Amino acid sequence: MGDIIQSGKLSGVRPRAVSEQQSIVDAQHKPPAQTCKGNRPHGAPAQSDAEQSGKEIALRTTSTQTIMEKLAILTDAAKYDVACTSSGIDRRGNGRDMGNCAAAGICHSFSADGRCISLLKILMSNECVYDCKYCVNRRSNDVPRATFTPDEICELTMNFYRRNYIEGLFLSSGVVNNPSYTMELIYQTLYKLRNVYRFRGYVHVKGIPGTDPRLIQQIGFLTDRMSVNLELPTAEGLEKLAPNKHRKTILTPMRQIQNGIAQGKQELALYRSAPLFVPAGQSTQMIIGATPESDYQIMSVAEGLYDKFGMKRVFYSAYVGVNEDKALPSVQTASPLLREHRLYQADWLLRFYQFRVDELLSEKHQNFNVLLDPKCDWALQHLEQFPVEINRADYQMLLRVPGIGVKSAQRICKARRSGALNFDSLRKIGVVLKRALYFITCNGKMMYRTKLEEDYITRNLLAEHEKLPFDRDAMTYRQLSLFDDGQENAGLFGQNQLIRSG
Ligand code: SF4
Repeated sequence: MGDIIQSGKLSGVRPRAVSEQQSIVDAQHKPPAQTCKGNRPHGAPAQSDAEQSGKEIALRTTSTQTIMEKLAILTDAAKYDVACTSSGIDRRGNGRDMGNCAAAGICHSFSADGRCISLLKILMSNECVYDCKYCVNRRSNDVPRATFTPDEICELTMNFYRRNYIEGLFLSSGVVNNPSYTMELIYQTLYKLRNVYRFRGYVHVKGIPGTDPRLIQQIGFLTDRMSVNLELPTAEGLEKLAPNKHRKTILTPMRQIQNGIAQGKQELALYRSAPLFVPAGQSTQMIIGATPESDYQIMSVAEGLYDKFGMKRVFYSAYVGVNEDKALPSVQTASPLLREHRLYQADWLLRFYQFRVDELLSEKHQNFNVLLDPKCDWALQHLEQFPVEINRADYQMLLRVPGIGVKSAQRICKARRSGALNFDSLRKIGVVLKRALYFITCNGKMMYRTKLEEDYITRNLLAEHEKLPFDRDAMTYRQLSLFDDGQENAGLFGQNQLIRSG
């Protein structure tokens, strides 16, 4: 980091003074008069409220903190926000502006615990007027506070991008003054980033419930992805733990974004130069384990979000206790990380394997067996559908066999066109049989003499010591530092904090 930031200032960057009273979008950065949609500056379909009214939105922070001190506080504060994977949008560099996007996912780097590290993931501010019980940055907590100016975020993003440290920006914030005020600051940041700094890389922004819909609309043309956190699976949970938030104010911007995306697609079909609205789709996030909902309830909510709000992703964030509160589990309670992992697996089944929640769980079977992946769990509850004959089963049924994924199912379908498959040929085409062998036959024969019994298969599968993507004990929420090559830097990053911003 030393070569990037010297004495709290970024090196190699044209210094840009931002006084407390300075208008964040000054006159020279205003978009030119619009003649048609195609002539708008990148993602700026309209002027912001501040511009229109001539009012200045000035940061109220009177901090003398250096940019480095702010970065330490605000990157650390953002690290628990899990809804930060990107992708889904292809945008090539144009030879003039900085950056590009790859649809295959610019976030190829993930930390050991599966969290994305190649976005600059920061908060605009960790000041907050709300008092969500589970959040370290709630109003009633005494923690170091910091707020970036839009220019500081732009400069950080450009500097990290130039040095190949990051491939995009994930920007969230606590609620400074009120939701619209905060989102106005975020709008100013994105507007500058796109039109002054000419950044074309990936940007994911958190939407704050209760924001003026006009701001959501404006930001939607500047960002690639927007997410509004559902926070908790049920309205009762929300009322109990986040009294300043309401289900209705969360669902309203979600619906607005969904409609904006649909409308944007229609306009794109008519006009090639129509501006893109949230082109990488919207996502949301739920906290798991702070309230007593079952997996069945959580997955039903997720399914509803996919079906009714066209979500690109639903993220599940295992609750980590940082505040003592009688409405919350004790801070000593372990984070339900394995449960979070199972929910992600089940989510995958909904999105890519055509499972419905009612097939995986039910009123009687409300929670996944955390020791088995959800597809195995489902198969063991539905042994009457097995064994599956590899040479005759249709593609959809092959997908339901534990251990057979999309690629393997496709390879099987292709290979069996040339002749009947046996277990050797399955191995040759790369099908892993470790789990599948209990559920399939080739030409009417099982691989070994196994029993099609729940207990027997469960015992054997567990004996395999299914490899989880993380070690339960070694699991940490410490976000990999962008600056210190993985070395502990307690002085810089301080203690772990938990924030569910926005
Ligand atoms: S979760 Fe968001 S809104 Fe709630 S206290 Fe934390 S920062 Fe504020």
